[in-house]
Amino acid sequence: MCTINSNNNILNTPIEYLTGISAQRGELLRKELNIHTFHDLLHHFPFRHVDKTKVDAIASLTPSNEYAYVAGKLLSVDLVGEGRSKRLVAKLKDNTGFIELVWFQGISFIEKMLVIGHQYLLFGKLGFFMGNPQIAHPEIELFSAEKMAGKASLEPIYPSTEKLKSRGLSGTLLAKFTAALLSKLSVQDLPENLPANLLSTYKLMGRYDAYQQIHFPVSEKHYQHALRRLKFDELFFAQLRMQLIKLERNRFSRGNIFDKVGAYFNTFYNNHLPFTLTNAQKRVLKEIRKDTGSGKQMNRLLQGDVGSGKTMVALLCMLIAADNNFQSVLMAPTEILATQHYNSIVEMLQGMDVKVALLTGSVKTKNRRQILQDAADGTLHILIGTHAVIEDKVQFKNIGLAVVDEQHKFGVAQRAQLREKNTIPPHVLVMTATPIPRTLALTAYGDLDYSVMDELPPGRKPIVTTHRNETARPQVMDFIKSEIALGRQAYIIYPLIEESSKLDYENLMKGYEEVKSFFPEPKYWISMVHGKQPPELKETNMQRFVSGDTQIMVSTTVIEVGVNVPNASVMVIESAEKFGLSQLHQLRGRVGRGAEKSYCVLLTGSKLSNDARERMGIMVATNDGFKIAEKDLEIRGPGEIEGTRQSGAINFRLASIVNDKAMLEFARAAVEELLTADADIEMEAHQCIKNFLISQKGKTKWSKIA
Ligand code: ADP
Ligand code: MG
Repeated sequence: MCTINSNNNILNTPIEYLTGISAQRGELLRKELNIHTFHDLLHHFPFRHVDKTKVDAIASLTPSNEYAYVAGKLLSVDLVGEGRSKRLVAKLKDNTGFIELVWFQGISFIEKMLVIGHQYLLFGKLGFFMGNPQIAHPEIELFSAEKMAGKASLEPIYPSTEKLKSRGLSGTLLAKFTAALLSKLSVQDLPENLPANLLSTYKLMGRYDAYQQIHFPVSEKHYQHALRRLKFDELFFAQLRMQLIKLERNRFSRGNIFDKVGAYFNTFYNNHLPFTLTNAQKRVLKEIRKDTGSGKQMNRLLQGDVGSGKTMVALLCMLIAADNNFQSVLMAPTEILATQHYNSIVEMLQGMDVKVALLTGSVKTKNRRQILQDAADGTLHILIGTHAVIEDKVQFKNIGLAVVDEQHKFGVAQRAQLREKNTIPPHVLVMTATPIPRTLALTAYGDLDYSVMDELPPGRKPIVTTHRNETARPQVMDFIKSEIALGRQAYIIYPLIEESSKLDYENLMKGYEEVKSFFPEPKYWISMVHGKQPPELKETNMQRFVSGDTQIMVSTTVIEVGVNVPNASVMVIESAEKFGLSQLHQLRGRVGRGAEKSYCVLLTGSKLSNDARERMGIMVATNDGFKIAEKDLEIRGPGEIEGTRQSGAINFRLASIVNDKAMLEFARAAVEELLTADADIEMEAHQCIKNFLISQKGKTKWSKIA
């Protein structure tokens, strides 16, 4: 068998080499459970254990039993229904009652296997149909006294699929395979990968034992220990890989050095800065200064809640770049936002000799040519635009800094594109107002440095948020009127789930007409902005709202990120139940940006799912973006949080970044301690870690590190 192992590791053996797994079964395991090798089978962990020495009496089953484990005599087997609703229904009886068994798939296979009158042992998820207990796609085996005697009190139950079960590849069989595999493996096959001091500090079970005990524990306590050990493994090595990538980047990539603060920065700071910086802004600026002065390329994620003043931090950094003879780009996700950044930055820099340009899809050819030329010959200091600004056509004389606004998903491809822009790659500052819970930041973005601005400029009043039924719309409109009478402005947002969805646009148009009937011209003027408008129209409508020509902005979520109109004091969100928490928080952040008291009204229908009700409740209860992000993570799980879906870093099999926060912090601390003492992982005591990383080749770019 060893001959087929590329690097002599038994765990890489294809699954068919295990006794009892035919080519056909192997194919099923690959397709259904993604189990290709011994390693994969070993890591197909049970989701619970069941005491298989004791069966349940059928009469004792209630809806509070999640699973049923029963033994009895098969009374009948019938094929019922036609076509797609065709199913096999069987009846089983024990001394206390009857239970129904149903199969929707693999019917002919099961039908042939079942023999009326025989005794069977059944396990499966319990349901009730018209008050009677029922198991769909149960695991089934012939019952015998000897078999029962051989059962363990903690038998593993594995995640499986209906297809597997209907092909006779039951969880019981999976347990058998796993047991067979474990009996083949020696301690040398699963060598310890954590040093002794870590094992004792964190009281961790040995690795070999942990694999045995997670599948076939001798007691519940052993199982818990094994689980803890293997979760720690996942978190520790994920953190380690991330930190090694970071170390490697710091070691091998040179960065432009911004070592002086010169006339651009100082003139601006002393004569143009319209307010004093918050302490958080000052701190982040210091962190960035330290990075950009170090000779290493900065890769920093800046998180600041909506309205915390990230744009100013970006501008100050770009001025420092200019002081060091470097050009900068500022990228925004939408043209509206890019245009707004451009306008406000140009205004703030008025009277200063800093050349700023805006490059978007709507810039005319002649203008565009000039901008490209200025970027290429170095006369341009700051280029603002959408991501088009890092397209191949745009060449810089000496770009030193790229700021990415409102997009924490700025990806690997875009980073690579940036790297092409100068011999030494520009520093990258990614800014996001979608707070990321710390656990997620550590796992999904752990290779980046990150700064948090947890302070709002002074004088901001918390936004008052209410949740109202749609039927209260007239009162809400009256409230908007009273705010407009005070000189303020209002947003009314409609959900736009899909850019192309016709229905959503119809809703928007209907809403617009309705708003118009509440707010007739010429007393009131309304701007409408949505994604299907030509850019010039969008821009004009937006601009009219910014300048106060219109008092009401009716819009889809194109307005979501970044837009800044401090005079706006009301945000009404229609069909608020259709939005996620982060998005609601973002939208709400469009108000409360001036000194005025601001309001957010969440309008929903009266029939709400529990989830939606919870979301509304959270929005009403808090303005704190970090709290909201934590909740969002709890409700939706890490995979659903925007921008992290692609990240393999959070796909743990056992650990959960929601439930295992404390352990994640442990693991991180352990990695930090390790690398501080032994960055190259060379010490004798750490060989087990190094060997493990090497055995996991392909998952780590070890070659570059070692
Ligand atoms: P965000 O972090 O959401 O991008 P912005 O950069 O748009 O926030 O800033 C929000 C508002 O706060 C802007 O009007 C900006 O001029 C203002 N602002 C930023 N920093 C300060 C400060 N230190 N003091 C007062 N106002 C500030
Ligand atoms: Mg912003």
